[in-house]
Amino acid sequence: MSPGATAGARVKQPRASSNDAVATTPPRVVLLDSLPAAGLIALTEAGFAIDARTGLEGDALADAIASADAVIVRSSTRITRASLARAGRLRVIGRAGVGVDNIDVDAATELGIAVLTAPSGNTVSAAEHAFALMLAAVRRVPAADRSIGAGRIGGEFARRARAFGMRVIAYDPFLTDDRARTLGFALADLDTVLDSADVISLHVPLTDSTRGMIGADQLRRMKPGAFLINAARGGVIDEAALIDALRDGRLGGAALDVYATEPLPPDDPLRSAPRIVLTPHLGASTVEAQENVAREIAEAVRDALLHDDFSRAVNAPAIGGEAMHRMRPLLDLAERLGRILCAIDGGALQHVDIRYAGQAADVMKPLAAATLVGVLGDVVGRGSVNLVNAAHLARTRGIDIGRTRLAKHANYAEYVEIEATGAAGSIRVAGALLDAAHPRVVRIGEFHVDVWPRGALVILRNRDVPGVIGRVGSLLGDAGVNIAEYHQARLEQGGEALAAISVDGVLSDETLRALREVREVIDAKQVQLD
Ligand code: NAD
Repeated sequence: MSPGATAGARVKQPRASSNDAVATTPPRVVLLDSLPAAGLIALTEAGFAIDARTGLEGDALADAIASADAVIVRSSTRITRASLARAGRLRVIGRAGVGVDNIDVDAATELGIAVLTAPSGNTVSAAEHAFALMLAAVRRVPAADRSIGAGRIGGEFARRARAFGMRVIAYDPFLTDDRARTLGFALADLDTVLDSADVISLHVPLTDSTRGMIGADQLRRMKPGAFLINAARGGVIDEAALIDALRDGRLGGAALDVYATEPLPPDDPLRSAPRIVLTPHLGASTVEAQENVAREIAEAVRDALLHDDFSRAVNAPAIGGEAMHRMRPLLDLAERLGRILCAIDGGALQHVDIRYAGQAADVMKPLAAATLVGVLGDVVGRGSVNLVNAAHLARTRGIDIGRTRLAKHANYAEYVEIEATGAAGSIRVAGALLDAAHPRVVRIGEFHVDVWPRGALVILRNRDVPGVIGRVGSLLGDAGVNIAEYHQARLEQGGEALAAISVDGVLSDETLRALREVREVIDAKQVQLD
């Protein structure tokens, strides 16, 4: 560990996350691959304890992870399911870089661990390297250039290509024409790119749709004498087909920085292919890039641990920073509604529909996750479900999730409604935010109520006859329980009524039992909302 990375550790108590009580020890961040100390200032300044444990695998790696609140890796350390087996406190895995091929994201998601990336710190270095590869392969400035995948690096690559007087077009089905125009190139379909390019440079992530996207057929379509550059990810090219295309002279050349197997084995046939330039995954290997990604991931890890900012997470609803701050009251309300729903339904759920009417943008995914945190808290244990794994846990339990954005609500500017369906039928709860500090539960089942979702909420079903409120009040008073709010609603006179009673403190099992024994009471449930 370089001295700078430890300096300042444990000097200041970091603020606890909004979900936690005040932390007694600073969160512990373990660096599993080496990073420049200068990039870690955000963590040291926030007072985190930083521990460098590089080059670990197997049990030693699992041990190092077991006591960490966050770990940071580059591309060397492999975070496998087994290495997370004892990750009891781990909330965040930070990847200093962009690809997450060395992290079992599914395992992390299941365990509720956010996986954050630093997507932009090495963009320029990677684009420069791809460009250097192209020049090395081509040794002359070609008449035109084509790019596949025009994100951050593709965009920077194209900027450099234009400066060299090349005409650039790109194939990227996820890019809008407007964005392409801003970046200074036109979009085309893959066949057009393959048919017309003098140089094709790949800048796509490795996904199911890009794995092997340049295979024998695509190489055959390329112009005779054209060049292929890949500084993205190895699996994108079928390497055996590329070797054939180089050997039979169809391709003018190729230059690669990344391989299906890394490091490239000494006897790999790519090494003896003609007209090929190979570099050992150097795209991000510049001092600037390493410092940039270290700084970027350090800030991302700090913000996740301190402020629940998951905007850089690849496996959580993308909320963070200011957006998280604005959304928090709505997410809190949704989680509390989820808890109420779980308390009154109790059975196995098949479908949960989250409906929202209000002003917030991009809110449906986080809102659904927050609702499921509430719904599943008592089912899987409160500490075991969070915004990262809630949707996954729901799906593994066979719960289908619906998200519906409603038209403006007649009475409330910010309205959240949850309908759950199980073997016993459907049930609905709803809430509204009068303003950020004033959430209300406005519906439980068929009953319209109006109560603040805080502390302990007692939900009472009783027959609508005189004297019940008095008897319940006396019983709670005798038990030393103070009533903060009592809202009773009924569908018709003399029928069934429902009371939402917000109390200070918690009802003991004995008091709850006594309440259920009151003659007019049909049922009484208590739900903890804080
Ligand atoms: P990015 O997310 O900004 O851009 C990727 C682009 O690919 C996006 O615009 C996306 O729409 C497009 N895309 C996705 N699927 C596609 C498909 N099927 N067909 C066509 N386009 C598709 O990512 P980036 O930061 O520009 O990184 C690009 C690649 O470079 C990644 O694979 C990354 O891992 C790699 N990289 C390599 C190095 C290195 O050292 N060689 C360094 C950094 C990044």
